Amino acid sequence: MFEKVLIANRGEIALRIHRACREMGIKTVAVHSTADTDAMHVRLADESVCIGPPLAAESYLNIPAILSACEITGADAVHPGYGFLSENARFAEILEEHGIVFIGPSSKHIRIMGDKIEAKKTARKLGIPVVPGSEGEIKSEGDAKKIAKDIGYPVLVKAASGGGGRGMKVAETEADLGNAMSTARAEATAAFGDGTLYLEKYLGRPRHIEIQVFGDGKGNAIHLGERDCSLQRRHQKIFEEAPSPALNGTMRGQIGATVSKAIADLEYSGAGTVEFLYENGEFYFIEMNTRLQVEHPVTEAITGLDLVQEQIRIAAGAPLSVSQDQVVFSGHAIECRINAENPSTFIPSPGRITGYHPPGGLGVRVDSGVYAGYSIPPYYDSLIGKLIVHGQNRNECLMRLRRALDEFVIDGVETTIPLFTDLVRNTDIMNGTYDIHWLQEYLSKP
Ligand code: ADP
Repeated sequence: MFEKVLIANRGEIALRIHRACREMGIKTVAVHSTADTDAMHVRLADESVCIGPPLAAESYLNIPAILSACEITGADAVHPGYGFLSENARFAEILEEHGIVFIGPSSKHIRIMGDKIEAKKTARKLGIPVVPGSEGEIKSEGDAKKIAKDIGYPVLVKAASGGGGRGMKVAETEADLGNAMSTARAEATAAFGDGTLYLEKYLGRPRHIEIQVFGDGKGNAIHLGERDCSLQRRHQKIFEEAPSPALNGTMRGQIGATVSKAIADLEYSGAGTVEFLYENGEFYFIEMNTRLQVEHPVTEAITGLDLVQEQIRIAAGAPLSVSQDQVVFSGHAIECRINAENPSTFIPSPGRITGYHPPGGLGVRVDSGVYAGYSIPPYYDSLIGKLIVHGQNRNECLMRLRRALDEFVIDGVETTIPLFTDLVRNTDIMNGTYDIHWLQEYLSKP
């Protein structure tokens, strides 16, 4: 097992990883920018190293600085969390070249899945159902028109290196296609330095359902069921639940088995999430994330497994800690992403937290790195915490979530708690009858 893990991230996830290491008796190294000197994970870690100024490009994305921090502290492994360098194949390779373990899959698998065109081709080869669309890159408008005509409008123009909902444009008819392509290309080039595009059938009212998997890199894999992440704003998840209100045990078993077989055949190592859109009883693969997800705690709540510890064990060469038969799903869990933002305009609200009182009690978990007196820096995303609630069934979970949200006090900055307070009393949310467009429509109502 590792002796010392360097956590190449910040915020709630850095603290989450620290906690997993601490329980395993592994020492931790926090790296931080000058804006994060007072962060909770920096205080709790065994050692900390400042790796640069506030801008992420000069600190959390600064590979030479992180490498130096590894060498100075003698860390033998790096956990990248999510975002930042977590899906950077080059970073994984560089660590490997320096004899440091990257806690994640091989750079080969990160690279395949990081290119959404390659990812779809690979998924199709492995027997996973994919969204109908172009076989590969679309090079010209003429090309696109031919393919769009075959699959039928509306179509979605997507960027091969897209992420965070960027580089995605809908074309309702052939007349929109040229425009959609140039806008998507410009957005993707600006955000990812790569304007490669592909085309997909635009599904009307799907749900976003993703399957959590683990592979041992030697041809064994398990799935830990699904998460329903259909509640999205601008293609970004804000509320996730497990199990999905739309699936039953048989459907879960079927899609789970298809996906874990594919992951085993790929000889994938570590945690991964295979994302699908789900409509009229059919699953359509959209992408695979080769890292820990923000919403992993809902899976932890219903399986009782620690996903970060499982990642660490696999990276250290251990076998999967449970077999598929030993995975038991229990009850229902929901996560709300609490952002420091105005709950109606979503304008970020950084600044000093003057009062902080998180909820507690049975089935309530708060993953957050903030505390009273902490100043939220303006340089990073606005996620300041996650409220995860577990109940014996969906109804109990919702009742508990209402109670927990009402207890949550964060003073000094605006947060999205009031939005969730409303949502958990909404009939569609209570009934579980929402799809990926529901929230956007709800928010645009006067
Ligand atoms: P990103 O990597 O940018 O998050 P994804 O491919 O994971 O992009 O898609 C993000 C979200 O965009 C999905 O959860 C869904 O809401 C929407 N989306 C993606 N592909 C389609 C599609 N073919 N039809 C309808 N909606 C889609």
